[in-house]
Amino acid sequence: MAVIYQKELAIKHRCDVCVVGAGPAGIAAAIAAARQGQSVMLFESLAMPGGMSTAALVPVLMPWTDGDNVLCGGIGKEIIDRAQATGAMRGGAIYAERLKRLYEDMLLEAGVVISYTTKLIDVIMRDKHIDLAIFNAKSGTFAVKAQRYVDASGDGDLAVMAGAPYEIGDAQGRMMPGTLCSLWAGVDWHEFRLGGAFSHNDDNMLALLRKAVADGMLSQDDYHLTGMTKTSDNVVTGNLSHCFGINPLDELSMTAKLIENRRVCAEYERFFRTSIRGFANAEIAATGAVMGVRESRRITGDYVLNADDYQKRATFPDEIGRYNFGIDIHPAEPGGDASLAEHKKQYIGQHYRRGESYGIPYRVLCPQQVENVLCAGRCVSTDRAVMASLRVIPGCWITGMAAGTAAAMSIAQDCTPRALPARTLQQQLKRDGAFLPNFNV
Ligand SMILES: Cc1cc2nc3c(=O)[nH]c(=O)nc-3n(C[C@H](O)[C@H](O)[C@H](O)COP(=O)(O)OP(=O)(O)OC[C@H]3O[C@@H](n4cnc5c(N)ncnc54)[C@H](O)[C@@H]3O)c2cc1C
Repeated sequence: MAVIYQKELAIKHRCDVCVVGAGPAGIAAAIAAARQGQSVMLFESLAMPGGMSTAALVPVLMPWTDGDNVLCGGIGKEIIDRAQATGAMRGGAIYAERLKRLYEDMLLEAGVVISYTTKLIDVIMRDKHIDLAIFNAKSGTFAVKAQRYVDASGDGDLAVMAGAPYEIGDAQGRMMPGTLCSLWAGVDWHEFRLGGAFSHNDDNMLALLRKAVADGMLSQDDYHLTGMTKTSDNVVTGNLSHCFGINPLDELSMTAKLIENRRVCAEYERFFRTSIRGFANAEIAATGAVMGVRESRRITGDYVLNADDYQKRATFPDEIGRYNFGIDIHPAEPGGDASLAEHKKQYIGQHYRRGESYGIPYRVLCPQQVENVLCAGRCVSTDRAVMASLRVIPGCWITGMAAGTAAAMSIAQDCTPRALPARTLQQQLKRDGAFLPNFNV
């Protein structure tokens, strides 16, 4: 059964660029567009910036250099430099609470207007353009009119509402598991290091995990434990365990999995307290505000960046940046030792050597069937393999900065984003610090 629901809505806000989603990609996009002199509004359904990098308590930043060059040059590098100076990051370890404040400082300094607890629920189209984006917040349901829209929702919500095609999961529609990360207090880190049980790469930890599963202390035979990171003087963040069978596009599935995984986290708390040196007095202080989602929709753009490009270390005439993280597809099911062995087999040897990277063409930011929309972050146009590389935080900063810059420049040049000459965009990105070694201004 269905009903037709009609309502007159106020156009509550007007801006040049409307960014949906304040994860790493949306933050970089909003800052980049605002620095180009456009009015920018950033809408976020949660009550904080950072997406997975804060709300889901992702503890570590994946590679941001190729060993010689900073790959997320420009806004990404600025975030890293300021994060190191303020303690929001220590090396690659993320102190989520400080990172939230840093992101907010940078957005406000750029003049971005932020609206938290505001969720995109629909769009109104005109001739393949989004005319209005519809949001719901505590004040009610309202419309926002912008010239350009950036989809940084992670899930590709905006682009799909606008009619863009997409793919999701593997051939059977299965997705990588999520993880409900957690903050731990009372860990004796020094003792833990002396104990020498760190992650699935460590035989000592593997033996303890196998025993805990055999004894029934852990209910999942998941030996792919991504591990513990010391994220501040007093806090350790756990990236464990895997949450299998999630569907990030279904709220009831996500609810059931959140409930299940809070219980699984309690199993790990007991396991660590009883089995792992340094954790005898430890406790989980909090689990993530949201489930950590690794995989969701991949919006189909004018080009689909793929595994072959990754293998070739491809270069593109319209590239907006380059990246290098390994293709890391976490198995969709637990499967004990066999699954762990398969994961290791698939990925060992795939990682790039020093100085290597693959190009990211501008076309992956331009969704098919829609004209005034750009995608950024996890949902850009890739196959599943490249998504499993480019999805990490520095990759999202790269595509976010390019999407925001292109959105703003296409307004200034009075053309659609896809008609914006790549060379013009590259010139600006290079001036702003992007890593574009194959392009000379
Ligand atoms: C468990 C886990 C571990 C990871 N480990 C690492 C790691 O070690 N290092 C690393 O670099 N990366 C890691 N990643 C990957 C990385 O954190 C994410 O892929 C990255 O944050 C994606 O950025 P994004 O901006 O595209 O999307 P997200 O971070 O998902 O942000 C999207 C934002 O959009 C908002 N949003 C969604 N829909 C709407 C809507 N309809 N209206 C309004 N707002 C909306 C969301 O609330 C969210 O804040 C990990 C991810 C997970 C899940």
